[in-house]
Amino acid sequence: MTIGRFGLRKRNYDFPPFRPPSEANSLLLRVTRGCPWNRCTFCSMYKGMKFEIRNLEEILEDIELARDLYGDRVRTVFIGDSNSLVAKTERLVKILETLFSSFSHLERVTSYARAKTIAKKPLEDLIKIRQAGLNRLHVGLETGDRELLKEIEKGAIPEEMIEAGKKAKKAGFEYSLYVLLGIGGEEKWVQHARGTAEVLNQIDPHFIRVRTFIPQPNSLIHEAMMRGDFKSPSPETILRETKLLVEELRVTSQFLSDHISNLLPLHGKLPEDKEKMIQMVEKALKAVRENDGLREEMEMRRHLTNL
Ligand code: SF4
Repeated sequence: MTIGRFGLRKRNYDFPPFRPPSEANSLLLRVTRGCPWNRCTFCSMYKGMKFEIRNLEEILEDIELARDLYGDRVRTVFIGDSNSLVAKTERLVKILETLFSSFSHLERVTSYARAKTIAKKPLEDLIKIRQAGLNRLHVGLETGDRELLKEIEKGAIPEEMIEAGKKAKKAGFEYSLYVLLGIGGEEKWVQHARGTAEVLNQIDPHFIRVRTFIPQPNSLIHEAMMRGDFKSPSPETILRETKLLVEELRVTSQFLSDHISNLLPLHGKLPEDKEKMIQMVEKALKAVRENDGLREEMEMRRHLTNL
């Protein structure tokens, strides 16, 4: 059952437009609207949307509406939009306390967050938010390579990515980092894989989630591609990059490919499943080199939009 989509649609309830796939069964609660950064060149998610922190009364009313409709069935909540941690700590604590007092079987509350915001937020504030019940942060790393981070205008350097990850873990959060396979294009896949593994190795997040980069219309990188300034990587390049990334990882994370954009259902616990995962990528590489139909099928994913 997708909590938060049925019933509440008909009521005066505000929804985050995006959520991680792992939050498909969660109640969706909007604390902010849009993205306060909104500059990443690959991202079209909140383009044209003015960022704002929602009025606290409205948020509490949404929780009340959801409680009336779902009551004890709510076990997980996802907080949107892109960077809820920009809201004041006291406000987040109040929202979390209201959630836990409203839903007696609530087990998990998660949110998107920006690494830069986490790096700037005092550790004591992060601890307060964690203790009030926010369990997990979903954060976009995309790449750990310094040059690429700058090129895609992620607004954070590798050191800040590492600082944010370590700090969030120290505060007690489960940390889920997103990697964007293919964001280095045909040219920079090696530095992308190596730089990303380096940052991940330093953080050792609980979850590493990979997405495969597909240029989305209405993003700057899509415009660059149309001008011929960015060359999307082939499926073979993405698989080679994935293999190198997994080879270089020295973490104890859960690795997940839980997204429709990915070429392979590559999942595993590291380091235990590392060899098995590498073999799976090697097998796919061999298959794609020998099978034009498979290559075409993988190429077709380039045209997926609204991801
Ligand atoms: S990737 Fe995240 S931080 Fe970057 S613009 Fe999109 S929503 Fe904002």
